[in-house]
Amino acid sequence: MQDIERLKIKICDHIDNLAPELIELSRTIHGQPELAFEETKASHCLSSFLKKHGFSCQPGVGEMPTAFIAGYPPHSTKRPTVAFLAEYDALPNLGHACGHNLIAAASAGAAVGLCSCLFEQWGRIAVLGTPAEEGGGGKIKLINKGLFNNLDVALMFHPDSKTQLVKRALAMVALEVNFHGQAAHAAAAPHEGRNALDAVIMSFNNINSLRQQIRDDARIHGIITHGGEAPNIIPHFAAARFMVRALDNTYLQQLLARVIDCFKAAAQASCTRLELKQDELSYAAFKPNYGLVELFRPNLKSLGLRETPGSELANIGSSDIGNVSRLLPSLHANIAICPADLSIHTPEFANAAISDFGQRRMLLAAKALSLTALDLLYYPECLKGVKQEFEGGGHNTL
Ligand SMILES: [Zn+2]
Ligand SMILES: [Zn+2]
Repeated sequence: MQDIERLKIKICDHIDNLAPELIELSRTIHGQPELAFEETKASHCLSSFLKKHGFSCQPGVGEMPTAFIAGYPPHSTKRPTVAFLAEYDALPNLGHACGHNLIAAASAGAAVGLCSCLFEQWGRIAVLGTPAEEGGGGKIKLINKGLFNNLDVALMFHPDSKTQLVKRALAMVALEVNFHGQAAHAAAAPHEGRNALDAVIMSFNNINSLRQQIRDDARIHGIITHGGEAPNIIPHFAAARFMVRALDNTYLQQLLARVIDCFKAAAQASCTRLELKQDELSYAAFKPNYGLVELFRPNLKSLGLRETPGSELANIGSSDIGNVSRLLPSLHANIAICPADLSIHTPEFANAAISDFGQRRMLLAAKALSLTALDLLYYPECLKGVKQEFEGGGHNTL
């Protein structure tokens, strides 16, 4: 048996031994759901687990109290560094309906599993605690603060209803749209008013016309957040929020310009003033790294899990992992934790994220991530191939 096969068995045994702790970790995070940037307890229990198993841990990185970076060997700056990303924020009202408790436990388990057989000369393992994936773009903030600068590869899994190793993510910008008009009595003096609500309604209609001429992979959707005070007052202020998404960043910018024209046209027609605010954190489209997928796939298969056939473009949203994938080779593998007809962001999915089946899949994900990281550190040519693909050299089968 090759040395690496022995090491892989050792890693899996180690993760099996860690299982009670990892399940406890995932259940604890699930049982006390915390929203974006408020994940104090989740961040603390993950850091404590990693420190207990020999990692050095720096809390509050990137000027976010609930972000952290942990490393093994402790305080090492050795390269290459393979990073496991841990998400742990929950959704309003739904709790862990995106299963981030399982992501956190799997990434922590993968890291501790691997450190049991890491030779220091190979490199370093990091766990990056990334808050606020569900709106807030925690990873983008960490990128802007340089936390990804000394990492070579980013690995994570995401719970899903299907096992798909490549699932794309759309580039996305969020907009806040305010219209300022003139209030007037709606019956006695409507001619003195300028109707801000009309501007919002026209914006929706303009966008619905534009929608016929946009690419299939683009999305524009919004809500009205303020529509006036009373039906007998011409609304002097009305507001909406929109999201614009596309499969590539270039088309997103072109589409965004046309959406903004829809708002401008509405303002002109209603004689109101447009005030537009673009969220400073734009989500980038996910850039898959097929070299990483081809390392991950046989590891997953060796653990007995097969992929669900399907398009990498089906049922896709947006995530801040997109921005990470533009900076360094990234794996964001989806693994089924429930029947295929369930959707994420539902109460049923929150139940799946605490189920025994969900916990077993979390342990399996931890193993597959850990084994893939071992491949990257054990075979320098694997890491080189993954990086060449990232740099634009195309994907070579390793
Ligand atoms: Zn989600
Ligand atoms: Zn999620």
